[in-house]
Amino acid sequence: MIDHFASNSASLNVTIAFALALTVSLMLKFWLASRQIRHVAHHRSAVPVAFSEKITLEAHQKAADYTITKTRFGLLELAWGAAIVVGWTLLGGLSALNQLLVDVMGHGMAQQVALLAAFVAIGSVLDLPFTLYQTFVIEERFGFNKTNPKLWLQDLAKSLLLSVLIGLPFITLIIWMMGATGPWWWLWVWGVWMGFNLLAQLIYPTWIAPWFNKFQPLEDEGVRERVTQLMTRCGFTAKGFFVMDGSKRSAHSNAYFTGFGTSKRVVFYDTLLAQLSPAEVDAVLAHELGHFKHRHVLKLIAVMFSLSLMGLFALGWVSQQVWFFTGLGVVPNMAAQALGAAAPNDALALLLFMMVVPLLGTLMGPLLAQMSRKHEFEADAYAVAQTNGPALASALLKLFEGNASTVTPDPVFVQFYYSHPPATERLGRILAGPATT
Ligand SMILES: [Zn+2]
Repeated sequence: MIDHFASNSASLNVTIAFALALTVSLMLKFWLASRQIRHVAHHRSAVPVAFSEKITLEAHQKAADYTITKTRFGLLELAWGAAIVVGWTLLGGLSALNQLLVDVMGHGMAQQVALLAAFVAIGSVLDLPFTLYQTFVIEERFGFNKTNPKLWLQDLAKSLLLSVLIGLPFITLIIWMMGATGPWWWLWVWGVWMGFNLLAQLIYPTWIAPWFNKFQPLEDEGVRERVTQLMTRCGFTAKGFFVMDGSKRSAHSNAYFTGFGTSKRVVFYDTLLAQLSPAEVDAVLAHELGHFKHRHVLKLIAVMFSLSLMGLFALGWVSQQVWFFTGLGVVPNMAAQALGAAAPNDALALLLFMMVVPLLGTLMGPLLAQMSRKHEFEADAYAVAQTNGPALASALLKLFEGNASTVTPDPVFVQFYYSHPPATERLGRILAGPATT
């Protein structure tokens, strides 16, 4: 009796803490977004002096409008996402879905895998209007959308097939491990999950990416000679230079350096090569090489690995507590567990945990963004030392303009969200010459 009462009050505390965390995080994000919108709108009428000769008023205003539109849309997505989380948890959606599947399929592995699959499928359908609006209305209005309904549907079908072929067996393995490997299951799951991530990094560039895009060897002799020299100078070998047909879907541009060990490859978006001069391409690649020289990729992987380990440890603990389920609006299958069904609540615990973690992520976000901005400065400094500052600066300006990125973001918004430092700070340091870092 007393136990039951204690469990009830713990459950109520979880409900209150969860509702409070959700509200605070939502209010914080709304406040940040409204700051960003106000700040960008306030600076819309004139190009900042530092850029007055490099950015036209027209481009500046397009960037402002694009930023404001996307941020406003982000607010709508945020509210919708929060409503869905409340629907799944406190309003009992997940519990009802679980019960429905238990009624149909009984307890067991199949029911748990079905629960996860149904959750993902319903979530994707609920997100669909937003994805469509983003691509075919917002990106379209600003001239970035190059995809069409047919290509979009093809992409969707391919992603779906990948989820079924790779995701489903993987999630079945995880659920099986949670039930079969004893009290240290979270450590086992962590090991497999990390192995899966590394494997994905290895096979993605050669096996999966070509399914969505064409990769052709870089043919431009001038550019190829320059970048080959740069790579040799910096002590890198790559398996090849490739041009990706990014323009098939979007006018946004990028370049990346991917893979591990000997399977490294350099990929340029065709949109990037169309915009930049060879010297600028060189500088952008040097920036990417800087990320490798400073071991940023390894550091990020290390951070991700340790966060996952902490997360899974926490999941291992809360999945044993009745209040974790009841506090979040789910009736766990305790009777089935008592009858000896192997861990019938694992899928539920996993899903609830995935909905709680982003709330903690609100606190982690600024720290990770801060780390990323520091890495960007380091990569810029490396590029300046290996190539030249003015070329990197003009390349960045073209990319800012080409992607309609605002050069006047709100400083507080930047602290929270920006993975790259704003243009003023980056160009200021680049043009100040070879770095002191
Ligand atoms: Zn970078």
